[in-house]
Amino acid sequence: MDLRLLELLEELALLLELSGENPFKAQAYARAARTLREYEVDVRRAVAEGKLRELPGIGPSLEEAIREYVTTGTISLYERLRRQLPEGLLELTQLPAVGPRRARQLYEQLGITSIEELEQACREHRVAALKGFGSKTEQALLGAIQQWKQSRFRLHLHVALQEAQQWRERLLALPDVTAVIPTGTLRRFAETVEELAFLVVTPQLERLRKTLRKELPTVTEEAESRLTTRGERGVRIRLELTSTDNVGWMLLVTTGSDAFVAALWEEFRARGFEPTPHGLFRQGTRVPTRTEEELFALLQLPVIPPEIREEATLLARIRQQGVPPLVSRSDFQGMLHVHSRWSDGKASIRDMALAAKKLGYRYIAICDHSPAAYYAGGLDRDRLAQQHREIERLNAENLGIRILKGAEVDIRPDGTLDYPDEVLQQLELVVASVHSHFRQSRHEMTARILRALEHPAVQILGHATGRLLLARAPYELDLDAVLETALRLGKIVELNAQPYRFDVSWEVLRRWQDRGLLIAVNPDAHTVAELEYTELGIMLARKALFPPEQVVNTLSLEQFQKLCARQEATDR
Ligand SMILES: [Zn+2]
Ligand SMILES: [Zn+2]
Repeated sequence: MDLRLLELLEELALLLELSGENPFKAQAYARAARTLREYEVDVRRAVAEGKLRELPGIGPSLEEAIREYVTTGTISLYERLRRQLPEGLLELTQLPAVGPRRARQLYEQLGITSIEELEQACREHRVAALKGFGSKTEQALLGAIQQWKQSRFRLHLHVALQEAQQWRERLLALPDVTAVIPTGTLRRFAETVEELAFLVVTPQLERLRKTLRKELPTVTEEAESRLTTRGERGVRIRLELTSTDNVGWMLLVTTGSDAFVAALWEEFRARGFEPTPHGLFRQGTRVPTRTEEELFALLQLPVIPPEIREEATLLARIRQQGVPPLVSRSDFQGMLHVHSRWSDGKASIRDMALAAKKLGYRYIAICDHSPAAYYAGGLDRDRLAQQHREIERLNAENLGIRILKGAEVDIRPDGTLDYPDEVLQQLELVVASVHSHFRQSRHEMTARILRALEHPAVQILGHATGRLLLARAPYELDLDAVLETALRLGKIVELNAQPYRFDVSWEVLRRWQDRGLLIAVNPDAHTVAELEYTELGIMLARKALFPPEQVVNTLSLEQFQKLCARQEATDR
């Protein structure tokens, strides 16, 4: 899927409306973007094979526009409209209370071309005077503007980690900087990140502050030792300056979560300490702390991994039972759910397998798409049989990693699977996923997935909610009913480690971990590089407190095959 194209089409629809063009034309572009998103179309492939027009809502002019995008990287109509309209107008339409029609009205009647200008106009009550607005709308707009300011610059986790690495290097290169330690949500591994926070350790606090003010152009000072600025993609950057003998405390308080830190503070107070945001004191004197370990030791607690510092209640549990056993990267033996060039993957089966082997895996399940996913090159029976012969040949070569014959089989709108039973029986792993008809009712969608789960051939439910983080909300679904059924049938639920998906969310999984749900952490990789997404998924599985025995990737090949076979047997 080409996210840039989707953005372009969506923006184009807005631009058409903003420019007062025929509204049907704008709707056609918006609908095309929705179709491409819902069907997860591999656009380049669809263009190459001349299949675009087979998709609902893609007529000749859209085909032409998409074709132009594939060859030139942009669409000329889009470029022209962008030049004609003021830059900030598009931004205005991002506010929930302002559609393109209202944005146009604000522009034409008040000359407003940005959210900042709109905020100003609202404060001066100029907006309430406009036809169709009123003072209630004006208040709602101010609220929406505040929300927008807080959430506009969120990053997907993998992008945040990359950008954080660049910032770290940049800060480390400055004079007077001893260490730069990522903290905050980044250190706790959030699904998306709105702030990159760093502890900057220095023996020369004053001098470093001056340097930073010079080096970072838009920097603001929020407190004596806290500077903030914006990164390249607009994300908030927070720098907490600290001396070496206060690193432990600052790391502890800035890592969070707020609730978790508050619970820790209670413990410190109970032991006669005075915790503050800037240091830990006892009888008015600051207690030097170079590491977090020293602080946990003061509380007679084991060191608590940052990624699980979320709920305050966890602290009491850890005091009684110690840190719960958490799955880790070194436990992983099986790489499940990866694609190859046979469908919409970019690498051969051999390359995917060898890359997984290099990462230390013992087996890999190739799960290409089934025929309903024709836009993604889904395999019909013949091609699937050919693929199986290739897998057999590769396994005969003893590559040092066992390749399993799997498939990511579409769950059709009625809940049946996209291969007949005799084909499903030939597969060693079936991941069943929803890739179409996302707008079914909650009832229909739930029944659809439950029916698929009940099929004896299905072992894993793929990306169960269909959300695309920062892009597409999950479909309507009774997720609890689905997870309940998975638990009852002993089916495995996927934690999809694609940073655009990460579904099922760790918060939901956290609730089901206690009940014994089995999960698989799967990269859903389409390239060799994406195999490493697994590591992000593992951090989220840890956040949800999953021990190795509840994560099926930790099983040996024999155990995994036995588990899959047992599921089929109990189902029958
Ligand atoms: Zn999928
Ligand atoms: Zn997939």
